[in-house]
Amino acid sequence: MGYGFGEGRSFSRDKDKDKGKGRNGKGGFKKKGRMISRPRVCRFCADRKLTIDYKDVRLLSSFISERGKIVARRISGNCAVHQRCVTEAIKRGRILALIPFTATQTPMA
Ligand SMILES: [Zn+2]
Repeated sequence: MGYGFGEGRSFSRDKDKDKGKGRNGKGGFKKKGRMISRPRVCRFCADRKLTIDYKDVRLLSSFISERGKIVARRISGNCAVHQRCVTEAIKRGRILALIPFTATQTPMA
């Protein structure tokens, strides 16, 4: 225990209620309950023109949480094949410093 994941406990599920109102974020990943009606279709399977590229930061950033973690497949809705591609691309982008490994402070600009 305690290899980096412990920090994630700082936002506990109990505080999620009042926290959800405060931020007007970009995505819709914040809800963990079943009330979310996200289509269970993989975005990349649905749209064949959509390609996963490690240089495409805008696309990949929709698959990382605000802490910089890769969003789980059951939340992102990706299929196994494409989630693997996304994960690979994010990791590649991290090495090239396109995508943060972690977000301990607010990014500049
Ligand atoms: Zn897919």
